[in-house]
Parts: sequence; C-alpha cells; structure tokens
Amino acid sequence: MRLTTMAKHSAQDIIDAIREKKDAKILITTHHKPDADAMGSSLGLRLFLATLGLEATLVSPTDFASFLNWMKGSNETLIFEGNEELCKKMTREADFIFCLDFNHISRINEFGEAVSSSPARKILIDHHQFPQGFEDFTYWDDKASSTCELVYRFIADLGLKDHVDKDIASCLFTGIVTDTGSFRYSNCSSQTHMYAAELMNYGIDHVAIYDYVFDSYTEKRMRFIGYAISQKLEVLHDYKTALITINKQELKEYDIVTGDTEGLVNYGLSIEGIKFAVLIIDRSRIVKMSFRSKGNFAANNFALKHFNGGGHFHAAGGSSEVSFDETIHQFKEVLKQYKEELNA
Ligand code: 5GP
Ligand code: MN
Repeated sequence: MRLTTMAKHSAQDIIDAIREKKDAKILITTHHKPDADAMGSSLGLRLFLATLGLEATLVSPTDFASFLNWMKGSNETLIFEGNEELCKKMTREADFIFCLDFNHISRINEFGEAVSSSPARKILIDHHQFPQGFEDFTYWDDKASSTCELVYRFIADLGLKDHVDKDIASCLFTGIVTDTGSFRYSNCSSQTHMYAAELMNYGIDHVAIYDYVFDSYTEKRMRFIGYAISQKLEVLHDYKTALITINKQELKEYDIVTGDTEGLVNYGLSIEGIKFAVLIIDRSRIVKMSFRSKGNFAANNFALKHFNGGGHFHAAGGSSEVSFDETIHQFKEVLKQYKEELNA
C-alpha cells in the first residue's frame, strides 16, 4: 500500500495514449453498489468521451439505486452480476479500463479478478485515500470533493469545457452535491463551488436533480428511516458515538432495495456532541459497515484497521465476515480503545 500522493499523469497523457491505439476498446468501471458520485462520474466521463468519438461501455459490479436512473446512459450500463461471461469477455478484450471512484480492486468484488487479469491499461480517476496502486495511469487527488469534480477537472485540463453539455453537467453536478453532503462537508472547497457554479451554466435543472436524489423516497423507505432512528439508534455517550444496526428481518420487512439505506448513517452525527456515527447492516453475504466522523477522528483509519475497509477521513466503509451479532460485539470492543481520542 502506498500512503503518499502518487505521481500523476496529465489528462492529455491519458487521452494521447488512448488515441495512439486505433479503435481502442474502452471500458469504464466503478465501485460496487455505485452511489451518485460513482455513477455520475462514470456516465459523465462516458458522455464526454463520446464527444471525442471514443465509445466506452460502463460495467458496474452490481446494480445501483433507482434514483439515479434519470442519468443519461444509465440504462446502457452492463451489470456484472448476472452478465458475468459477457463482462469478462469485454474486460479481456479491452485496451483501456477507466476505474472511477475506487482505488482498491476489492471494491469491485468478483469483477476485480477480471479487471486485474486483463491486459488492458488501467486508468484511475479517484479521490479516496491510500490507493493500492494497481493502475497504469493515475489521475488522483484525495483533496478533491468527488470523482465528479475530478472528471470535470480532467475535461478542463484538456481545454475542452466546450464539449460539456447539459447531460454531462447534470451527471457531474449530482456527484459533487452528494459527496459533499450538499456542499457541507470538509471536502468541499471554493474550487468545488466554482466547478458547481460552472456546471450550472450548462443549463442543468438543479431543482429536478435535488428532487430525484433527495425527495423521491418510497413511503416504506421513509418509514424505515423513522423506525431505524426511533428503535435502532444506540447512543454510546461515553464514546460520543451513535450506532444503528439493521438485521436481515428488518431489511425484508421494509422491502429495502439498493440505495434505500444511503444517508442513514449520517443521522447519528446530527446529535449534538456525537463525533462518530456507525451503521451496521446484515447484508446477504457480508456484514456491511458505514462510518462517519467529525473533527479529528479518522473514520477511514478505523475502517482500515478493524474492518477491512477504507475511504475518506470523515466518511468510510468496511465489512466483516463474522456474524452480524459478532460484528456488533467486535465493534463495541474495539471502540473501547478509542475512548480517549473520541473524548479529546
Ligand atoms: P458508504 O458508507 O457510503 O458506503 O461509503 C463511504 C465511503 O467509504 C465511500 O467513499 C466509499 O467509497 C468508501 N467505502 C465504503 N465501503 C468501503 C469498503 O468496504 N472498503 C473501502 N476501501 N472503502 C469503502
Ligand atoms: Mn466519491
């Protein structure tokens, strides 16, 4: 694992390499259960490449939330789960694979093996800390708010902002909004605002975008959030920590589908004095964990050290292969080591 900023390639180096190869076959992939930044950056990049006459296919390791279905080209996404043979063949035959919004092969699940073994040159565009370094071309900045911001910067570096249209801008704006918590989090810089302002000038309908992403809950999803907060939230005052745990029965009872639990972990951080919010969900094959923090507490270090995870300083995730109950127990045990740090 490399812990420091890695040498970067310029956007021009990357485009030149692709152009050198006649009729280059290009894939774009992103992390499993892609969120708005993952889908927005991948689809935005795909639409931008099309303006250069470069055709690319987006392969997602898994399905994605239906509230992203409006993004142009989302219906052409190939889902690896269920289309394994076709995706593997395309991956084997690809010349270039853009890897967006992740930097560890483990983040693309079983599709990772196909990507790792493909002779294609890998191009990383990402903003997470601690890159694994599997790629051939690196366009990485952990100070960027989002991969969408980086894709817009990539286009700007090429001097090709005039290739951006309403559809591309809508995709990129969305990921910037969601990854910054609507411009609230510490990852949001003045540059982020400037890019967002520029993206608005391509004629996007930001009111509709907010509506799709934040105000399109099913009634069940809304009631599930109410239930999780009123019945499943545990405030561990001694640790300034808020924990929500969701078991399989609850997922079933509320018909929880991909995307429905997004944002749930954040509610814990809205409680005064809470510095660490954690969500533990008993998913089908693994126990999935989300971590959010405030101030000096590094959520990604916690995830990396104890739960095979990573991410950003204030927003990270991980997983556990032991049982749901055992994971909750382990979490509470491990938390004891951080009592002082969380109360500092
Ligand atoms: P979320 O909690 O929303 O799933 O993820 C928060 C952040 O942590 C995202 O930036 C996501 O990419 C990252 N993340 C989530 N789960 C994992 C994981 O299992 N491993 C790593 N390395 N990062 C994760
Ligand atoms: Mn992101």
